[in-house]
Amino acid sequence: MNNIEHPLQTGGTRGYLRIATEEAFCPPSLMKRFLQVLQDKSIDDPGFYSLWGFYGGDSERACLLRERIQDLGDHRIGDMNATGIDRQIISMTCPGVQMFPAAEAVIMAEEANDALFDAVNKHPGRFSGLTTIAPQDPDAAAREIQRGARQLGFKGVIVNSHTQNRYLDDPDFSPILQAAEEYGAPLYIHPNTPSKQLIPAFLERGLDGAIYGFGVETGLHLLRLIVAGVFDRYPNLKVVVGHLGEALPFWMNRIDFMHGASVRAGRVGTRRLDRKPSEYFQHNIYVTTSGMPWTDSIMYCHKVLGADRVMYAMDYPYQYVADEVREQDNLPISLQDKKKFFQTNAEKVFNL
Ligand code: CA
Repeated sequence: MNNIEHPLQTGGTRGYLRIATEEAFCPPSLMKRFLQVLQDKSIDDPGFYSLWGFYGGDSERACLLRERIQDLGDHRIGDMNATGIDRQIISMTCPGVQMFPAAEAVIMAEEANDALFDAVNKHPGRFSGLTTIAPQDPDAAAREIQRGARQLGFKGVIVNSHTQNRYLDDPDFSPILQAAEEYGAPLYIHPNTPSKQLIPAFLERGLDGAIYGFGVETGLHLLRLIVAGVFDRYPNLKVVVGHLGEALPFWMNRIDFMHGASVRAGRVGTRRLDRKPSEYFQHNIYVTTSGMPWTDSIMYCHKVLGADRVMYAMDYPYQYVADEVREQDNLPISLQDKKKFFQTNAEKVFNL
């Protein structure tokens, strides 16, 4: 087997199955709604117009993306076969239903979950699903988490970062965190374009999307949960973040030091925690490699977080690149750790 050229096959030919953990879909009805909002400008979310202004356009990348992301059948499975992906854990793309008025969003979330449930039932050996919720109605979201876990067989919950500029550490969202913990549903916090508080400085230079804004927005979201004491209140809550932890693993030493100093000094906005911020990465948090297929960064996370905390994700269909799978097949880790990375960590975390 000669590094970069090896064939990509499903079925565990290299000693492990490949489970891709952050793979996006968008129901056709929601895509229609996105495109409609681009026309009528009825939603107040500058990041949406930037992101879907791009993916709603006529470029080859945009057209292919829209075709792939709406498919939950043969096209998707063909793409998985071509890149050796045994299973996709499929979740709602950003911003999902989170920018719409609550009543409408609750219904859209239910419809999306019903559609994904049908697809998973048709392809139970290839697809698993995460529950879409409308956090803007926290009680309805909690009920949908229960339905996803108990009736639909979904393996976790997807939240596309801020909901109309609010973050999940806001006490209003407690029912969501409580339900996720109660039903053992890992909460995947996926990026969205930055909230209105953050976005102007990104938009000026075209940095609001996956290039950088996504990571800042989502890393901030996770760090807010940590320092707000969310994991002290919900000690069994599992959170998954993509993009190798949205840069937080690289910051951990400084965050621990400065958090300790800030708390001791009573700095505004800080509070005492049961653990150091970095320690929640050993108890509550898992990271995936979505969109970050770079051996050096992956090895850094593997070292500081441990072999049980880092999982493979492709980020289909946004980043559908066969050679990135090969690069991760060739990570300089033992076969045992590679099996954790591609297969068994995901099986454990998502209870597959
Ligand atoms: Ca993604």
